[in-house]
Amino acid sequence: MATAVRDIRHFIAGGTSGEATRFGDVFDPNTGRIQARVGLGVGADLDRAVEAALAAQPAWAATNPQRRARVMFRYKELIEQNMDSLAHLLASEHGKVIADAKGDIQRGLEVIEYACGIPQALKGEYTQGAGPGIDVYSLRQPLGIVAGITPFNFPAMIPMWMFGIAIAVGNAFILKPSERDPSVPVRLAELMLEAGLPEGVLQVVHGDKEMVDAILDHPEVKAVSFVGSSDIAHYVYQRGVAAGKRVQAMGGAKNHGIVMPDADLDQVVTELTGAAFGSAGERCMALPVVVPVGEDTADRLRQKLIPAIEALRVGVSTDAEAHYGPVVSPQHKARIENYIQMGVDEGAELVIDGRGFTLQGHEGGFFVGPTLFDHVSAKMRTYQEEIFGPVLQIVRAKSFEEAARLPSDHAYGNGVAIFTRNGHAAREFVQRVEVGMVGVNVPIPVPVAYHSFGGWKRSAFGDTNQYGMEGVRFYTKTKVVTQRWPDGAGVPGNANDAFIIPTMG
Ligand code: NAD
Repeated sequence: MATAVRDIRHFIAGGTSGEATRFGDVFDPNTGRIQARVGLGVGADLDRAVEAALAAQPAWAATNPQRRARVMFRYKELIEQNMDSLAHLLASEHGKVIADAKGDIQRGLEVIEYACGIPQALKGEYTQGAGPGIDVYSLRQPLGIVAGITPFNFPAMIPMWMFGIAIAVGNAFILKPSERDPSVPVRLAELMLEAGLPEGVLQVVHGDKEMVDAILDHPEVKAVSFVGSSDIAHYVYQRGVAAGKRVQAMGGAKNHGIVMPDADLDQVVTELTGAAFGSAGERCMALPVVVPVGEDTADRLRQKLIPAIEALRVGVSTDAEAHYGPVVSPQHKARIENYIQMGVDEGAELVIDGRGFTLQGHEGGFFVGPTLFDHVSAKMRTYQEEIFGPVLQIVRAKSFEEAARLPSDHAYGNGVAIFTRNGHAAREFVQRVEVGMVGVNVPIPVPVAYHSFGGWKRSAFGDTNQYGMEGVRFYTKTKVVTQRWPDGAGVPGNANDAFIIPTMG
């Protein structure tokens, strides 16, 4: 007899709710079994969430910033107390190893820590005496109801990037997480309630395109933050903007690591294997393309890379020794393996083939072994497109100029790294490269929470980044007040001056 799977429901107005007619499968990627099903919501579910948000948001916005920050403090403590159970839940739906799942939560928590200081970020500006008896000040006000749509690969970090700031500045936030690993987002919302957030301020609705479209079209949703693949990011951006919303939409990536002849190759190999294969390559800041400068650098790098890659341990999420676990779904595993075949067909040299990898005792798991290609060229589709799997491609460049042009000419522009001991080359590269986040001897340059995160070109649509002050700007409106308190003696000067555009003289 088939065992009933767990149902994952929306989290609306402080409780789980919703009867769905369509469902999405939630796998355990370690075994390949369907462990739960998530009800895919419709417009009416969103309407209920919006109604609860409308009821809750004005009082939340009127709560002074310090009290709002105190909720964030309590939330931080609760997340820390629940770190183990959250990491296990996350890993069981995503497939990443436990230590990496904790990193996912921790990087989100760092934005919550930033949000604990929100009173400082919300302080306006003031000019006394801007004109005769005139003072000018600016203040930031929340937008009202805002929404976030998030990808499968960081089910804790990316929601926290968004709602940490959005809520702290006084909005109500509706999260539509990935339908592949929706349990942690619900848990994150439950913990917020425990931390003292009023019901209706943070809610979770599940779904696919139908729910996304409902969010994009809903007149009460004033801003949408999206993170996912580029075509969908572009679609979300266009539809959301057409509906008059503020939209930031982060997309895919193809990050390059430039290796100069003077780089410390042992350091590069350690960093590169982690950045290319960690989380099975399912990171928008992974480093799937390495560009050694000069044939000699390429040969030496390849020689060191091969044994390092062969030594990688692929295992289940709970294997503390494993470097990475399974990929998220059977469809994604098939997609990655198709790309590997495409690379062969395009004429790249397949040095290590990760296809057909099975783990004893977990034959149904969605594992892909580490894969290495050499002699990849910029004309190949496997170079131009995002594979999002444990596949590292070597693109050999003859000169620094040629290497430096590659990431700039690529359609994506999320992250890039240069490995060198030459400060001048690094500086030139940093200045010139057409990419949003740059690492110098740092393979995954994800900015800390008090800076901000965002790529260029097809990696991001819209003009504000995630978190930091950019996040505060995205989730608030600026109001500028020009005030005069007359002394009762009337307006000074010539009455006809009132017809002339005011200047400060
Ligand atoms: P995805 O684009 O398939 O899904 C992202 C979100 O969009 C999900 O919530 C999903 O339900 C929704 N969605 C899916 N299809 C849709 C459609 N047709 N119309 C409207 N909405 C739709 O992305 P994913 O596979 O979950 O995540 C991986 C992608 O996200 C990769 O491309 C990765 O590079 C990217 N990513 C980017 C960043 C960044 O900050 N730039 C960070 C993490 C992940």
